[in-house]
Amino acid sequence: MAAMITRLAKRASAASPAGRCLISSEVNRHAPPHDAARFPTRGDPSERRVQWAFLGCPGVGKGTYASRLSSLLGVPHIATGDLVRDELASSGPLSSQLSDIVKQGQLVSDEIIINLLSKRLVAGEAKGELGFILDGFPRTIKQAEILEGVTDIDLVINLKLREDVLLEKCLGRRICNQCGGNFNVASIDIKAENGNPGMIMAPILPPANCMSKLITRSDDTEPVVKERLRIYNEMTQPVEEYYRRRGNLLEFNLPGGIPESWPKLLRALNLDDYEDKRSAAA
Ligand SMILES: [Zn+2]
Repeated sequence: MAAMITRLAKRASAASPAGRCLISSEVNRHAPPHDAARFPTRGDPSERRVQWAFLGCPGVGKGTYASRLSSLLGVPHIATGDLVRDELASSGPLSSQLSDIVKQGQLVSDEIIINLLSKRLVAGEAKGELGFILDGFPRTIKQAEILEGVTDIDLVINLKLREDVLLEKCLGRRICNQCGGNFNVASIDIKAENGNPGMIMAPILPPANCMSKLITRSDDTEPVVKERLRIYNEMTQPVEEYYRRRGNLLEFNLPGGIPESWPKLLRALNLDDYEDKRSAAA
């Protein structure tokens, strides 16, 4: 089991940016296999896998947390946005159809997404991947139902952030038009009042040489962001309900930025020891 995970981690390392690989191979080299039994998944403890999915509004940071967990656990982070971009870049069978849809600003259909995702899961299985963390899928109840026919989902992590903060964070997104780096200039500092906790989220500022090259995505305007959130909520609430009924929805209210949220998320996933052991072993 440990050997398989190590192999998987090495493979994941080859495919992901340098900073993350060290972490994932470190974890899997040192963590005893029984640690896997601590993951809050259902099913036989001897067959624990990480077949997880993230739900959460656009801008909530799904990608960030999915990617960190994927490094920690040594399973691939499969973002449907990346699958679409890869297909577009590959001139594969769906790429011209996709390019029209994207140009028109439409959402990519369930059929296309499930097609790309199935291909990716089959390829991963053939390579011996032992799990995955999905990001951006399932987005609709129909997708959740189709997904159930394709693979089992053990755990769905629903990331939530208060809406006023989410809006501000979405409007604060910036991209460097030179290196393509993603940053966020929004600085959240909400005082606690009337028993409601406050919230601090530091901006994610670029290095000095990127500062003058920051641009805002054309679809990050207030009306567009609000509409995106409205559509998201309308489509996704039934998906939350779907997984809640199956008993594998984990609701997680983000208490702030990454430094505040990451340790609490690990604790909610029973992975806090897992990361501590990794640090101790490193
Ligand atoms: Zn830059």
